[in-house]
Amino acid sequence: MITLEQVRQRAEADAKTYGYYLNPNQDFLKDLLEGLKRNEERYGYPSCPCRLASGNFDFDRDIICPCDYRDPDVQEFGACYCALYVRKDVFEGKTPLQPVPERRPLEKQVRAYETVSVSAEKKAETATATARTPSAVKQKLWYCKQCGYVVFREEPPYICPICKAKREMFAEITISMSMQG
Ligand code: SF4
Repeated sequence: MITLEQVRQRAEADAKTYGYYLNPNQDFLKDLLEGLKRNEERYGYPSCPCRLASGNFDFDRDIICPCDYRDPDVQEFGACYCALYVRKDVFEGKTPLQPVPERRPLEKQVRAYETVSVSAEKKAETATATARTPSAVKQKLWYCKQCGYVVFREEPPYICPICKAKREMFAEITISMSMQG
């Protein structure tokens, strides 16, 4: 099992190689590193802690950290989508962090969501067949109480990709889909 320190060292080495810096806010940084660690334990690879992964390595390849979008985001906005990697001027506080728009194609985001949803539905169908009673699939919708960002995920993101609020700022809205018929 990978340790948090190993995740940190890997990110530090990568930042150094590319001339980037890790986010100077240590609490914020720790949350992101814990998210990477948890995703690596869950999926077998460190998918982005701010995005929904499908669990399929080939499909998620573009969001395995460091993701395909990091370099253009750091160049244009001074930070990657999660703000794990930042540019020197941001690290030094000369340029404020700003929200980074999602560069991952919308169709990939939708397909990742569909993959996770289908998987949840299959589990519910299995449970229904076993119980021989109608069932319901509960899908979790989270919103950031600070900026209103909304995302479907099993669990809230570690960091809001828009306003950088911590996980605790996310509240759940539960949507139930009937599986009868
Ligand atoms: S947005 Fe940042 S933390 Fe997320 S995968 Fe890309 S480089 Fe890693």
